[in-house]
Amino acid sequence: MDLGITPKVKPLIEAVRKMIEEDIRPQEDCYFDEVGKCGNRFEYSPKMTEIMEALKKKAKSRNLWNFWLTNSEKGYGLTTVEYAYLAEEMGKSRLAPEIFNCSAPDTGNMEVLEKYSKETHKEKWLKPLLDGQIRSAYLMTEPQVASSDATNMALSAKKSGKNYILNGEKWWSSGAGDPRCKLYIVMAKTGKDDEQRHKKHSMFLVSSNTPGIEVLRAMTVYGHDDAPHGHMHIKFKNVEVPQENLLLGEGRGFEISQGRLGPGRIHHCMRAIGSAEVALQMLCQRALSRVAFGKPLAQLGANYDIIAECRMEIEQARLLCLKAAWMMDKGDPKAAAPWISQIKVVAPKVALKVVDEAIQVFGGQGISQDTPLAASWTYLRTLRLADGPDAVHRRQVARAELKKFSNSRV
Ligand SMILES: Cc1cc2nc3c(=O)[nH]c(=O)nc-3n(C[C@H](O)[C@H](O)[C@H](O)COP(=O)(O)OP(=O)(O)OC[C@H]3O[C@@H](n4cnc5c(N)ncnc54)[C@H](O)[C@@H]3O)c2cc1C
Repeated sequence: MDLGITPKVKPLIEAVRKMIEEDIRPQEDCYFDEVGKCGNRFEYSPKMTEIMEALKKKAKSRNLWNFWLTNSEKGYGLTTVEYAYLAEEMGKSRLAPEIFNCSAPDTGNMEVLEKYSKETHKEKWLKPLLDGQIRSAYLMTEPQVASSDATNMALSAKKSGKNYILNGEKWWSSGAGDPRCKLYIVMAKTGKDDEQRHKKHSMFLVSSNTPGIEVLRAMTVYGHDDAPHGHMHIKFKNVEVPQENLLLGEGRGFEISQGRLGPGRIHHCMRAIGSAEVALQMLCQRALSRVAFGKPLAQLGANYDIIAECRMEIEQARLLCLKAAWMMDKGDPKAAAPWISQIKVVAPKVALKVVDEAIQVFGGQGISQDTPLAASWTYLRTLRLADGPDAVHRRQVARAELKKFSNSRV
């Protein structure tokens, strides 16, 4: 098992790191300060567009674009392990994933389009997504049902002539607040209640401007609306979707969602490791430079232990993520699944702890707008719910373990 940095990905990591430090980070505050300046928080001010587009153009011109298409001849042809190192780098900045066209939920959605959609759909949505011209959202979670069990989804899709008619509600649709979001990939119920649990749901491509779609509100995360990306609550009322927008066929929604979420979770987890690295660096610099009771903070209380624990836990989490990525690369998603569940619990928890310790060392400033730590903590806390809550992933890990000792379903 080789989990190291390959000669192929090394120069890419260096180029991404350099561009984040020299070009992206210096613009971040200015970009986020602009949110809402044009009156609507889900619109781009001219300055925001200028910053975003100039940086994307620069990334493209340096050929630092669309790294995420792993184990494919298209794009860079990187392995998941190689991509994982890039995801860690991109996780060090809030803007970077989009600048390199590697941000969620677009990467997962592009994979779905690439694998399962027709040529006409590729032309309409995949091409502009690959080019960074539009954005997309993935609509699974619903307000009325426990969505950690995706077989509960109730938004209905009923066949009517050449269309399906969609009715119901979705929420926490990340990215749907963005005015550039043109595509929703929607999980809907097409089967009857008494059908097999995993054969009742289907996946549809839906234009975000289809009549009958109403964005009800932006959900807030600890009081923040995460504009202009947003996590939207959306209502579907008699929304007509052409039959050809059904992916793969009726009842095959789970096949698609399982394939989509595996790589996405690795990306999320490695970005979390990246944000933990930034926090630990900030913690150490602060602990050395600020003095209380006649000593640098580093030398007070249990701060040596805290720093050491943070370093050790980051290293453990990174290795586990790389092992999960390596399992993905072996080409058996079923075998990789429990490993992905392990990292989905471990990486956000470790990153959250490290960021929390950094906040503590920063004192009041740590929770303020003056450092990226508060935003980072908030984001990492949500990651313990998004893409499956911890408990659901623990269940997967435990079931894989018990299965080793039992022939019946556990
Ligand atoms: C910031 C953010 C962004 C998101 N983005 C998206 C998105 O883009 N698209 C999308 O479709 N969804 C998105 N989600 C939704 C997310 O995936 C769901 O919130 C998650 O799947 C849990 O569903 P639920 O909220 O209905 O919680 P529920 O299903 O009601 O679960 C609540 C709690 O019940 C407990 N529980 C559930 N199952 C078990 C179990 N097996 N064992 C023990 N305890 C259990 C856990 O404590 C769990 O946290 C996002 C969520 C957040 C917070």
